[in-house]
Amino acid sequence: MVVKDNLRTPIVCVMGHVDHGKTSLLDMIRGSSVVSGEAGAITQHIGATEVPISAIVDKCGNPGLLDKFMVPGLLFIDTPGHHAFTTLRSRGGALADLAVVIVDINEGFKPQTIESLNILQQHKTPFVVVANKIDKIHGWNPQKGAPFMTSYNKQSEHVRGSLDTKFYEVVGELYKNGFSSDRYDRVNDFQHNIGVIPISAITGEGIPDLLMVLLGLAQRFLESNLHYNAEGPGVGTVLEVKEERGLGTTLDLILYDGVLKKGDTIVVGCLGEPIQTKVRAILKPRALSEINVEDKFKQVSKVTAAVGVKISAPHLDGALSGGSVRVATAETLDAVVEEVRNEVEDVQIDTDQS
Ligand code: GDP
Repeated sequence: MVVKDNLRTPIVCVMGHVDHGKTSLLDMIRGSSVVSGEAGAITQHIGATEVPISAIVDKCGNPGLLDKFMVPGLLFIDTPGHHAFTTLRSRGGALADLAVVIVDINEGFKPQTIESLNILQQHKTPFVVVANKIDKIHGWNPQKGAPFMTSYNKQSEHVRGSLDTKFYEVVGELYKNGFSSDRYDRVNDFQHNIGVIPISAITGEGIPDLLMVLLGLAQRFLESNLHYNAEGPGVGTVLEVKEERGLGTTLDLILYDGVLKKGDTIVVGCLGEPIQTKVRAILKPRALSEINVEDKFKQVSKVTAAVGVKISAPHLDGALSGGSVRVATAETLDAVVEEVRNEVEDVQIDTDQS
């Protein structure tokens, strides 16, 4: 397994109708990968969770599939929902490199499912569909954390039949909405066919398959988009503007390109003229093992994309969630201010339309 230099972690967003299981899926991905103290444990970021490649390969086997190129892992944005996705942008595109559309297999498509698909199509974001809650199919015999096929083969013929019927209703709905799709293991050409993965966010069935397919998509579609200049100026998108005791106004952001250092001059999008300020502190969550430390964040002096961090800096009041943060130097400051101003206008147009 070779992790190529300068390939950053793809950013993944989970979308879908309310109650179809976005939060549960993120919890399952987080929980199932936490092996405290061992290599391959997930890293908690601010507003995001990173699942390292070693954890995924461990769970899925078949590293041969992945030796063409290798991303360091997958960074899941923790704020589920289409709102986050539509307003979170990077350079005029979507912030997320990949997406997971979740649909309750027992309920089928709902308005927000279709809306999610339309947004993804508009941004040309590669995605997979997960047909969730398979464990609720009558007579289902749960196989905790198993790959989908392992679990499927353990079900009675009748239960397999029920799953197939519901599954092909999802495929039919996708077709009605203009997407050709099939069960992911039958898809050869992910460019023209959407892979659909039956999962349960509660039992973990199908989760290894989902992680594997996401890596496959990253390899097929994203290699050229995931290169970053490891020493280039940091660029990020604000997830949230938050007051923190002792820190004042802080920004939770996803840095999707370049490097951000303590003391850097940054330009931050807001409704008026962009804010120009200096990074006072870059904060990451403490690891679970450090839970007794009073301070819930730890300071770092430098971070490299893709990463979710909190920053504190003077004059952040008025910063816009969904807006951008860009590192500037004395030479680039004017151009960067102009760029951030334009990006804020884009975010506002999007928000007004939604
Ligand atoms: P969200 O609104 O899309 O974030 O949906 P949630 O993750 O909050 O899930 C809504 C409800 O469905 C919760 O009660 C979950 O426990 C339940 N749920 C989600 N996924 C599954 C699943 O795979 N199986 C079962 N049995 N319940 C699920």
